[in-house]
Parts: sequence; C-alpha cells; structure tokens
Amino acid sequence: MPDYWAELPEDKAPKGRVLLPKDARESMSDGGEVAIRTMSAKARADGVDIRTGHRVQRTNVDEYGAVIGVEADMALGETVAFKARKAVIFASGGFTHDVAMRKNFLSVPVFGGCAARTNEGDFVNIGAAAGAELRNMNYAWMCPIVLEKALNDDPSLIGTFSPSGDSMIYVDRNGRRVTNEKLAYNESAQAFFTWDPAKSEYPNLVLIAIWDSRSQQHSASDEYGRFIVPEGKDDGHVIKGDTLAELTNNIRARFKKYANRIGNMTIADDFEETLKSTIRRFNKFAMEGKDLDFNRGERQVELLFNGPAAESPAMPNPTMYPISDGGPYYAALLTGGSLDTKGGPVTNPDGQVLDHTGRPIAGLYGVGNCVASASARAYWAGGATLGPILAFAYLAAKAANTEPSA
Ligand SMILES: Cc1cc2nc3c(=O)[nH]c(=O)nc-3n(C[C@H](O)[C@H](O)[C@H](O)COP(=O)(O)OP(=O)(O)OC[C@H]3O[C@@H](n4cnc5c(N)ncnc54)[C@H](O)[C@@H]3O)c2cc1C
Repeated sequence: MPDYWAELPEDKAPKGRVLLPKDARESMSDGGEVAIRTMSAKARADGVDIRTGHRVQRTNVDEYGAVIGVEADMALGETVAFKARKAVIFASGGFTHDVAMRKNFLSVPVFGGCAARTNEGDFVNIGAAAGAELRNMNYAWMCPIVLEKALNDDPSLIGTFSPSGDSMIYVDRNGRRVTNEKLAYNESAQAFFTWDPAKSEYPNLVLIAIWDSRSQQHSASDEYGRFIVPEGKDDGHVIKGDTLAELTNNIRARFKKYANRIGNMTIADDFEETLKSTIRRFNKFAMEGKDLDFNRGERQVELLFNGPAAESPAMPNPTMYPISDGGPYYAALLTGGSLDTKGGPVTNPDGQVLDHTGRPIAGLYGVGNCVASASARAYWAGGATLGPILAFAYLAAKAANTEPSA
C-alpha cells in the first residue's frame, strides 16, 4: 500500500509502512476484528480481567493529587470503584458521539461518524477535572459519510473509505463537480467544509454522488462504507431515477425531507441542466484519461481506493468511465464525518498526562484517540491511527509498570 502522501518529495519511503495482521481477511483494513480477537485472547490468557458495561466517570486521587483509581457507573446507576496497583491508563476513544462536544470543539459542522458508539469524550472531562492541559480539540480523523445514516444516528454507518465507481461523480447543489472524488478519505472530507465568506455558508456541506448502471452493476459492495451497495441491501440512502429528470426530482425531494437538519439547503432550479453539462465534460475527461478540473486518478492512493470496477472496456484512466446516456441513474447524499476525534489531554511520549505547566499528573496515563494526537491535522497513511496508538500504548504500559506499587 502506498502512503496517502506518497508523492511528497520528503516522503523517502512512500510504500511499505502498512502492516496487516496475519489473519486479516483482505489486503486492506479488516476493521480491527483480528486485532481485537487476538489481543483480548492474549490478555485473558495472561489473567487480565476485561470488563465491559463499566463507564468510567471519574478518577480517585490521594491527598497529594495522585490518581490512585477510578470509579465506573453501571447501567442501573450503581457505581463501582477500582483501585490502581500502579497507575491508571485511559484508552477510551474520542468524542465523535457527543453532539455538544462536536459542536463546541470541532472547527467544522460534523453530523456524526463511525467511532465506537460509546465514544462520548469522557476523558476530556475526566482529564480536565484532574488538571490536564487539552490540545488538538479541533481535529478529527475524517472521512466522507452517508448523510442520512448520520442524521438518523444509524449504527451501521461506516466512513466511505473507498468511493468506488468509475462512472461516478460528486456534484454540489448546483450540479457542478467541486472536488476529486477519489482523494484519500481524510482529505476528501475537507471538500465538504469549504466556507463561502460572501454568503456566510458551507455551500458543499452536502454533496451528491451520482452514478449509472455500470457502476451499480460492477462497483456495488457493502465493504468499507461504500455508498454503492448491492440493490436491496441496506440501500435506503440510495436515490433512484430512470432518467436524469426523474433523478433530479427525487434528489430534490430527499433534500426537502432533511431541510430542517441541513440549514434549508436545496438543489438549484437548473440542477438537471447543469448536471447534464457536468456529465458531458466528465465523459470527455474519461475518454481522454485526464481530469483537467481535479486531476482524478493521478495519485497512487486513488487507485487503491478506486474499489471494484468493470474490467472492460478499459479507459486510459481506471478511475474514470463515461457516465451512460441512458438510465437508470442513482444518487446518494454525502457529507464530511469523523472516524473519531483526535483531541484531548496532552501526554508526553510515555503517555503520562500533563498539566498546564507541562508536569505529569501522577498516576494518570492516556493513549489513543482520547488524548491529543501527535499527528495534529494530518493522516499520513493507512494505519496512521492504530500504528502510533500501538507504539504509544506500549511505551505507556512500560512506563506505568515502573511506578511504585500501591
Ligand atoms: C471501520 C473502521 C476502520 C478502521 N480502519 C483502520 C485501519 O485500517 N487502520 C487504522 O490505523 N485505523 C483504522 N480505524 C481507526 C481506528 O479503529 C481507531 O482510530 C482506533 O480504534 C482508536 O483506538 P482507541 O483505543 O483510541 O479507541 P477505540 O478503539 O475507539 O476504543 C475506545 C473504547 O473505550 C470505551 N469507552 C469509552 N468511554 C469509556 C468510559 N468512560 N469508560 C470505559 N470505557 C469507555 C469504548 O466503549 C471503546 O470500547 C478504523 C476505524 C473504523 C471505524
């Protein structure tokens, strides 16, 4: 797998960083299944007591302010206290599923994401109460997502890692392309948050993916959060039309359905006409193999994320194929979302949580998306979230193990 920024001159090793678990089912991410299964089996074999259903809400401290344990609330309101033998290490994820934190901290309007459903930013509050300095609160690991799944809080939502379909484009509410559809997901998500200072609005907050029967036939899959799914399989988000006119009407109706959730956004009166000329232009690019507007398919990683496609007839650029003159046509409403957020208490390389003077808070450690990520805004490559998390978790565990036993 190439790095997501393989073309940058300072990337001297543009391939070969990505590691996959031995038993992963495909060449791309398996969503963590193997890691969770094998690591929890190993932990249990080592005598670790794994408890779910315990929501840690606060730390317990000694008379000097050192963290000596935690308290967890249970579903029925009961509270259980745990004493730490050496230290407490939080790994409780980000705040994707806390609407108030999303609105207050992220710098762009995000409707949701695909982090573990229980990630509600608890360590932001717990860490702050213990005196932690917060950082990177405005950043998230980002990804396009299906708007309706986010608005409906649908637990099946998965970020669109792989925007499959060669005869597929994204257009704005006017029917114009505004971005390269095949960009790596973190960068692709930024296209939704373009700010129009003259109108004081996010004109691309909702973009419309449009495809034809070729992409439907050859690129449908329910893997990697693809919005082109096999017909009848969780396809409530798919808008259909036998002609572009019918598709336009149905897209307009879908915008209307969600108007009060998306700032009364609607599609332009001349959407269909503009869409037709957008398709003509895209089809010319597809025939010639060069996207003169957005350079689609020119970076290595875009080929990786292209997803399944028809093998023939081949076009010069494998990410582009002319959209058919005849229906049926399909569409889906997309917006920018989060895999999870990446802000929280600041830590040092040993995972010790720091206060505002840069001093470690005794006994308190954090790793993963619950603490400030070293990556700030960047998403370097596949594994850019889990790779550093595993490395810093190892360092944190090692450092915590050197703490005196209580
Ligand atoms: C579909 C999908 C595919 C992905 N693929 C990749 C990939 O290929 N490579 C990669 O590097 N990254 C990938 N990621 C991102 C990666 O999964 C996350 O960044 C990573 O899991 C974060 O690890 P974490 O330990 O910080 O938090 P999480 O894995 O989110 O775990 C946090 C845990 O803490 C629990 N929790 C929350 N609050 C509390 C509380 N108060 N008390 C007790 N427990 C609590 C939650 O229930 C959850 O189990 C993917 C993400 C998704 C959604």
